Amino acid sequence: MTKTILLKNRPEGKPSISDFEFVTEEADLKINQGEIILETIYVSVDPYLRGRMSDAKSYVPSFQLNKPIQSGVIAKVIASKNNNFTEGDFVSGMLDWKTQQVSTGEGLLKVDGSKVPLSAYLGILGMTGLTAYLGLNQIGKPKAGETLVVSGAAGAVGSIVGQIGKILGLNVIGIAGTDEKIEMLKNKFGFDAGINYNTSKDISADIKKAAPNGVDIYFDNVGGPISDAVLFNINKFARMVICGAISVYNNTEIPKSISVQPFLVRNSALMQGFIISNYAEKFPEAMKHLSGWLAEGKLTYTETIVDGFDTIPNAFIDLFEGKNKGKMIVKI
Ligand code: NAP
Repeated sequence: MTKTILLKNRPEGKPSISDFEFVTEEADLKINQGEIILETIYVSVDPYLRGRMSDAKSYVPSFQLNKPIQSGVIAKVIASKNNNFTEGDFVSGMLDWKTQQVSTGEGLLKVDGSKVPLSAYLGILGMTGLTAYLGLNQIGKPKAGETLVVSGAAGAVGSIVGQIGKILGLNVIGIAGTDEKIEMLKNKFGFDAGINYNTSKDISADIKKAAPNGVDIYFDNVGGPISDAVLFNINKFARMVICGAISVYNNTEIPKSISVQPFLVRNSALMQGFIISNYAEKFPEAMKHLSGWLAEGKLTYTETIVDGFDTIPNAFIDLFEGKNKGKMIVKI
């Protein structure tokens, strides 16, 4: 039997399990010349999928109702009539939330699980690692001795941003949602300081305490009031790297935030959003650094791996509750 997860409803506010439909069918996959059959091994769940579940205009097309949801997947080739793939190969790519599927192989990359676990290709050696490296370097333009603040710091992107910041000689402050995550930032990932935004009485004052010389780079994964608090602490020529805004992805009304313009003018500061695909030509360079630092032990990572195909929607919803540390992945 094969299982598939379809988008049943466009979520209103926070997604719920009833927005997804599970379909089980007889496994009767046949392939033509040039095609392969894939068996899903790991599925990546990511906050940006929330945007694709709505029908608002965006940089990627919306998912269609009653069609399979897609995300980053690691799969095993179990049958091949394509000269580029052999049975037993592992591949990474954007694939359907299905236990098995037919593919032409287009857009798939072969991955090697002999030196790093295959799941790493969905995180540190995948989209989130590239996002951390390229967002920080291309927009943040870090210089040793500067101060970097990272929100969503204990997640897949944020935990790598902070570590790269340390490698590059920055003073790094992470903002995350639990004391356990703050301990992890400092003890496992080498951040200089951490702020728990759920218990802080004044996030702006706590940033000031941790960064008495002000903030030169802000890597923003969350938006909303946390990012407002950072604005009060930015330095002249600060760079704000707008990677994501998870705190407002489920909003049903336009979020109310403070006006950023006076802060930008007063500090000659830059605020720039980006999409990782903007930097596709730089992926090889980024990958070289990420895999090199990983092999040298300068970078490390953590994953929250949950088991079972049926848990995919819940794992996705849990991102909005902060249930993950590092990359959230479902093992099939
Ligand atoms: P992640 O950080 O691993 O997971 C999401 C985390 O967000 C949760 O663990 C939670 O941690 C935090 N969070 C959830 N609701 C929040 C809220 N209301 N306020 C503050 N924090 C909240 O996810 P990721 O894959 O690394 O993605 C991080 C951000 O980068 C997302 O906004 C994503 O859309 C964006 N992104 C952008 C690109 C791009 O190309 N621009 C690429 C990849 C990812 P706490 O416990 O700390 O709350």
